Amino acid sequence: MIQLIRGFRDILPSDVPLWQRIEQTAVELFEAYGFAEIRIPIMEKTELFARSIGETTDIVEKEMYTFADRQGAKQKADELLTLRPEATASIVRAYIQHKMYAGDPLHKFYMTGPMFRRERPQKGRYRQFYQIDAEIFGTGSAYADVLLISMLTELLRRLGVDDTKAHLNSLGCPECRPAYRETLTAYIDARADRLCEDCQRRKTRNPLRVLDCKVTACREAMTQAPELIDHLCDACRDHFAIVTESLADLSVPYVLDKRLVRGLDYYTRTTFEIHTEVLGAQSAVAGGGRYDGLVEALGGPSIPASGFAIGFDRLAEIVAQKQPAAVPAPALFIAPIGEEARARAFPWFIELGQAGVTCDIEMGGKSLKAQMKRANRIGAAHVLIVGETELVQGAAILRDMNTKAQQAVPLERLVATLVAELG
Ligand code: AMP
Repeated sequence: MIQLIRGFRDILPSDVPLWQRIEQTAVELFEAYGFAEIRIPIMEKTELFARSIGETTDIVEKEMYTFADRQGAKQKADELLTLRPEATASIVRAYIQHKMYAGDPLHKFYMTGPMFRRERPQKGRYRQFYQIDAEIFGTGSAYADVLLISMLTELLRRLGVDDTKAHLNSLGCPECRPAYRETLTAYIDARADRLCEDCQRRKTRNPLRVLDCKVTACREAMTQAPELIDHLCDACRDHFAIVTESLADLSVPYVLDKRLVRGLDYYTRTTFEIHTEVLGAQSAVAGGGRYDGLVEALGGPSIPASGFAIGFDRLAEIVAQKQPAAVPAPALFIAPIGEEARARAFPWFIELGQAGVTCDIEMGGKSLKAQMKRANRIGAAHVLIVGETELVQGAAILRDMNTKAQQAVPLERLVATLVAELG
């Protein structure tokens, strides 16, 4: 038997109601704040991710699903394509490509869909996983960052998770980061021999990533490292102060997390993660931040932006622990006894469904006992019993599975009666 690919997963019908509820809750909330859905391709040119996420990140160095797409005779080289490992790069590309900045550069987007990273599969980590994304283009305002963080907190609250904490840091900007980088590089160089291979290699090109390394030796070497938050320029400090003050005003719980640098190169100023204790002291359910340099870096005008990505798989796991999803049960199960009754009842079933009554019917020739068993198993609220006797008498029996009360429903007004009662 062919099994699914390692690190990939099926989301089975028993889980889907929860996923749908999460998505609906997010859409409702995001749209209230003027976010519009954008749908982007699952594949892009490899270069887009390499340039936006950063050549020295784990994602680009090790985790992308990249392949050469065969070209026609005219083109020289095959084109390298990658299954998207995140959404921001594509949304930025779309924003630039469709010149959405012309006129009013302010746009708020959201999207949801699968992402692909060739990470080591483990509990809660998949190679195809899902994210819910939101991005705000065209404003450098600290309040845009606050809106994003507050939306995340509210989304989780609406889903029954009220112990969230936003972890916050500032990554500075091109004004203040270079000087900090030098200070940090000097610190790292003095301890270079204690760092892991990845960090040895990355430290010159992206020393901030060393702060983010999960390897114990690197963590220990970095305990006394200078913190970016203490080296911000006035503008970045003011920006960060607005974020924290506004979050406090809104009673959004947050903590300062000086080591939060995030894996991606294009972040500036505010960076954040949303944590909850529901799954124990696990990593974040969502992360994001400001990326003021990315639109320009990808060939657009200089336009600031800010956004986040929620780990949908993790969020679903968290919400499932808080509020186990009920598998939806039909309002009605139609139990025909005998060929003739089945032929009469089948059109009722089709019409009831068309009228929006959730219903099911026995399509084979099972006994009434077997049918009642099935109606119980699927949790049908009512069962409509119709056999030869009922056809002769001109009325079917509607049984309330809760109260066990039964009533006769005249056949000539059957669909209308049931729509009125159960619709
Ligand atoms: P990132 O795009 O790396 O900032 O990730 C944002 C969120 O996506 C994280 O907080 C995780 O919840 C989730 N996430 C990232 N990678 C994976 C993965 N391989 N499997 C499941 N969830 C993931």
